[in-house]
Amino acid sequence: MSTTADEKGSTGPGADFTIETVAVLGAGTMGHGIAQVAAQSGYRVILRDLDEELISRALRAVAANLSQGVERGKVTEDEKERTLSNIRATTDLSETSGADLFVEAVPERVELKRETLRAVEAAAGGHSFIFATNTSSLSITEIAEGAGRPERVVGMHFFNPVHLMRLVEIVVGQETSAEVVEAVRSVAMRMRKEPITVRDVPGFASSRLGVALGLEAMRMLEEGVASAKDIDTAMELGYNHPMGPLRLTDLVGLDVRLQIADYLHRKLGTERFRAPDILRRMVGEGKLGKKSGEGFYVWEEK
Ligand code: NAD
Repeated sequence: MSTTADEKGSTGPGADFTIETVAVLGAGTMGHGIAQVAAQSGYRVILRDLDEELISRALRAVAANLSQGVERGKVTEDEKERTLSNIRATTDLSETSGADLFVEAVPERVELKRETLRAVEAAAGGHSFIFATNTSSLSITEIAEGAGRPERVVGMHFFNPVHLMRLVEIVVGQETSAEVVEAVRSVAMRMRKEPITVRDVPGFASSRLGVALGLEAMRMLEEGVASAKDIDTAMELGYNHPMGPLRLTDLVGLDVRLQIADYLHRKLGTERFRAPDILRRMVGEGKLGKKSGEGFYVWEEK
């Protein structure tokens, strides 16, 4: 699907989406990775989290990713140093006020995302900016509700680990303008990512398909069609998936998958996303996948 300028509202005259400075809000699992790829692509980056300890941890994680890249011959020493020098970290939101693009990666709560957007608008002082949310499931339109410039709010859904995963889902809210979509697509491409454009529907494109496959694999396991390993092998060897749906569920976390399935079931109202009993039972038993040591597979510490 592509969105044309005719289909979307205009951002209006004077909108300048030259993007030089990117502010990343939230320096956790996703935020530090987004800051890294932005800095590596030559943007000036301001990375913001709530306290110094969280920020230092994020900067250490970026440095470690880059060092690994150097060891593997994928990143030069020079590029590593340049990338690190492009990132400025802060706990003070007012220091982000000149940014042209904000990418928020704060926890997955709609109220928090809205508050973050309001705080950015209040701090911006008239500077024109795009606000991209890295939400993996929430509605962009709902996040933009009550915003001063909802046409400048868009989804930019990166994947974990950000420095290795090539996909970025650009999610187009009801009010998002065509110029904003184009601007963030260009940013994603400059980050050497592959952007896809998706309408603001629950689960976007990635989670909706990925979760559907995972839930069906669980129902097949419940019905005794084959073992977990054989179901995964069917997809790995028969369809060239790099990883079968049950192993992938173990990596993502069964609790995370259950939460998304329940959300999609509620929002899309289709039985396809009703969580199978096996998933609910395993989560109840604390079998959450790799992080708890057991899911559809047993995971031993290296
Ligand atoms: P995380 O918990 O690792 O990091 C969130 C960070 O935000 C924390 O460091 C927290 O201190 C910080 N924070 C909280 N409030 C803040 C504020 N007001 N300003 C600045 N920082 C603030 O979470 P995460 O896994 O990185 O997820 C972040 C977002 O990315 C969520 O919306 C999530 O759904 C989405 N996402 C996660 C993944 C994944 O695999 N983890 C993948 C794609 C998208």
